[in-house]
Amino acid sequence: MGETKDGSGRRIGRRSLIVGGAAAVLGTGAVLARDELSRLWYRVPGVDKPRVKGAVDYRGARWVAASPANFRWADRPDDYPIEMVVVHVTQGSFDSAVKVFQDPEHGAASHYVVGQDGRVAQMIRELDVAYHAGNRDFNERSIGIEHAGFVDRPQDFTDAMYAASARLTAGICRRYDIPVDREHIIGHVEVPGTDHTDPGPHWDWERYLGLVRRARTAARA
Ligand SMILES: [Zn+2]
Repeated sequence: MGETKDGSGRRIGRRSLIVGGAAAVLGTGAVLARDELSRLWYRVPGVDKPRVKGAVDYRGARWVAASPANFRWADRPDDYPIEMVVVHVTQGSFDSAVKVFQDPEHGAASHYVVGQDGRVAQMIRELDVAYHAGNRDFNERSIGIEHAGFVDRPQDFTDAMYAASARLTAGICRRYDIPVDREHIIGHVEVPGTDHTDPGPHWDWERYLGLVRRARTAARA
């Protein structure tokens, strides 16, 4: 999944339908409104794009659905470009992160959770906007990855976790043509307005970016 974007043909069809319908109402001015409409069309009732239940964007992930209260349906990268990956640390276990993201009261969730043993759960599709960065603009343009553990426990960031997360991020960067650098792969702490400190001082950025670059090159070969 993901690479081929299932149902993309149908998606374009539906969008043309909406834009076409609006054009009939608005007349020539609709050309100017087209860009705005492309951002709004998915909010029109009944045009939600068809989705395959349990489908994942990253082959190595197991699907565990987050509560719909913790994200917003969208149609990225068509309505919003995906330009960044935001790295988080959960301040808890893999299981506790999965559990709270399933809780509608929590109000936040990330697209992925990576465990210390390298397991990956996808909880929100990449096309949707997850509430993970605490900043609407950044949420709309990013994919959030949670890592199980605590910011003050360097031993939580295992080799298996780095390797699995790097493969995941390499795939995201490939899918959306995101440069592998610190401008585009950032920590939650770097999101404007946040009071979160994750992933913290023990997250090895140099190592992580090296692994992402290697995984990207390997996939290209
Ligand atoms: Zn965070």
